Amino acid sequence: MEEHLEKVKCLIVGSGPAGYTAAIYAARADLHPVLYEGLQPGGQLTITTEVDNFPGYPNGKQGGEIMEDIKQQALRFEADIRNGLVTEVDLSQRPFRVKADDGKTLLAETLIIATGATAQWLGLPSEAEFNGYGVSACATCDGFFYRGKDVAVVGGGDTACEEATYLSKLCNKVYLIVRRDELRASKAMQQKVKETSNIEVIWLHSPKEIVGEQQGFAKSVTGVLLNNNKTGEEKLLKIDGLFVAIGHHPNSDIFKGQIDLDENGYIKTIPGSSKTNINGVFAAGDVQDHYYRQAITAAGSGCMAAIDAERFLSFSS
Ligand code: NDP
Repeated sequence: MEEHLEKVKCLIVGSGPAGYTAAIYAARADLHPVLYEGLQPGGQLTITTEVDNFPGYPNGKQGGEIMEDIKQQALRFEADIRNGLVTEVDLSQRPFRVKADDGKTLLAETLIIATGATAQWLGLPSEAEFNGYGVSACATCDGFFYRGKDVAVVGGGDTACEEATYLSKLCNKVYLIVRRDELRASKAMQQKVKETSNIEVIWLHSPKEIVGEQQGFAKSVTGVLLNNNKTGEEKLLKIDGLFVAIGHHPNSDIFKGQIDLDENGYIKTIPGSSKTNINGVFAAGDVQDHYYRQAITAAGSGCMAAIDAERFLSFSS
């Protein structure tokens, strides 16, 4: 049987702020974008609670509601948003051949990759229980809620040191929980941590359980039970918030071997643009940004990708 091929001018993969914003711009530029939402429609913001730093919401708003607003805005311009997963791509020639789990094969003149990144978690049941209620993977997003309080950061890399330094300016005390007896972070970041008087490093410990309380619907963290990795002893550390900073995984696996990635798997883009090393393929949001990782920067880069795709098409046809 002959395979049915659906031709699209602009295919967007991923539905965080980058993907949906790219859809708004591409739809308004008459590119009739098709967007596949992926495994987590709405992306990482849908697993947070209150978002206070996205412009346009003066009183803050739930992350999931912000994403629904952006999606509705894209639908208003008739973006074709599909609840499905892209499973295979062939970037060796244009139009790019893309398969999705709804059985469709698409031929895309341009492709915008906005598949995001996934925060690594410790994997403790109590971590999932208090996620958004005292457990976070983003100090810039949630640090504000812990002003004057005691918090802990888990991890020993650059992200953990950066998060601890950021939090030290807002919080009373910041514990940095490191599983080994040394930090993986760069010497400069290590120095910064050492020089900050309200950061205390707790070496050779790992969180065993996050402790908290629930009153009605309100949940809050009150401490973390730590395991000494050398002696096996346990101790309870009283804190109000726990920031997990043990790495992110960019969702670029299906593009591996076909597009330039950096050593951590992030898609490389030409600075100041969303262009990748493949003509007609653009990347936006956290899949190409391990530095800012904010919803608003992802949205901004989604806008850039749609504009780059539109200009690419007008010059190549
Ligand atoms: P990394 O992979 O560099 O570090 C992860 C840290 O988390 C390590 O210390 C690791 O411990 C620890 N860890 C992993 N799993 C667990 C666990 N289950 N329990 C406890 N601890 C755990 O990730 P980062 O996000 O810090 O950095 C990613 C990349 O981005 C790096 O290349 C980094 O240099 C870069 N980056 C650069 C920045 C900058 O230049 N300003 C800022 C942020 C990131 P262990 O060491 O024992 O493996």
